[in-house]
Amino acid sequence: MQRDESRNYVIEKFPNVDIIFGTNNIWKLPELLTESYNGTKLAMDIEENALSIDDKLGANRLYNFKSYVNIMYGCNNFCSYCIVPYTRGRETSRRPGEIIREIEDLARHGTKEVTLLGQNVNSYGKTLDEKFTFSNLLEEINDIKGIERIRFMTSHPKDISDELIYSFKNLDKLSNFLHLPVQAGSSRVLKMMNRKYTKEDYLRTIDKVKNVNPNIALSTDIMVGFPGEEEEDFMDTLDLIKKVEYDTAFTFIYSVRENTPAANRTDQVPDKIKHERFERLLDVLYPIQEKKNKAFIGREVDVLVEDISKKNESKVSGRTDEFKLVNFDGNANDVGNIVKVKIKDANSFSLVGEKVES
Ligand code: SF4
Repeated sequence: MQRDESRNYVIEKFPNVDIIFGTNNIWKLPELLTESYNGTKLAMDIEENALSIDDKLGANRLYNFKSYVNIMYGCNNFCSYCIVPYTRGRETSRRPGEIIREIEDLARHGTKEVTLLGQNVNSYGKTLDEKFTFSNLLEEINDIKGIERIRFMTSHPKDISDELIYSFKNLDKLSNFLHLPVQAGSSRVLKMMNRKYTKEDYLRTIDKVKNVNPNIALSTDIMVGFPGEEEEDFMDTLDLIKKVEYDTAFTFIYSVRENTPAANRTDQVPDKIKHERFERLLDVLYPIQEKKNKAFIGREVDVLVEDISKKNESKVSGRTDEFKLVNFDGNANDVGNIVKVKIKDANSFSLVGEKVES
């Protein structure tokens, strides 16, 4: 609704709408409801002011042992297929003190695992008055008593710093898992996507990460069928997947987002080709995932138990430090605890284990 054209469209076409607010003004809803109730015909707040949104909003958390914490809002990158910078506005970092206070409070109430969220956490701190980087933030969170695991997403490959890469060696609570969205393996397509790195840059970064931490689990986002993608470009994507050997990947078929530069391109890839490439992508990806998962057989791992099976109350599931999903025999008392599990079997998507009795 911060976008003039969207807002004007709603105002003109839907006169029955009472309240309009932007994504950064959710916390104003009670106030706007009151205004509306008191007779204002159209109560509206679309001002962009994200700095203290979380302090004003509060949170209703699904789990008490793991929590997600926004550290920044918006994005400045304008990838040519993405609507986020238009809908969420420019990048804004929350103040470190606010974030630390929130996480200390979560830890006091039983949170063991915290996931820091932002469209591009690697550029955290750029809008702050003081010099404070994402790595600085991780260091401070690493010192918080009660927090046992730190995760983050998402991380733009062009902005990942050496300082952050070394955090995977130096910070004991930082999980052994990096999600680094590549989107495509062809430098030509990456340029058209406005991603600002090449296939070679990305592979160099992955090499650095593996050198610092050879056991790190890697994950990515991959899109097939971006406008103008040729067979040769797609083969580059398959090649990159084989070189990196991802533990897991979120895979997508490109779909048009209106009002983005890619939507206006006339060289859209036909649906049939997109779907055929997508199947071929999975044929390459899944055996690699299976190989990586099978490498865990015989190992003892720490699993943060998240859920009890709805079908069978003696089965539970949780995640390893590497974000691997593990299923094993357990009970409701395990949920929320970090449990030692010996891995017995694995497939492309998950591991099966047995609790190690202490
Ligand atoms: Fe920003 Fe991510 Fe969208 Fe690119 S894909 S514009 S980095 S939110």
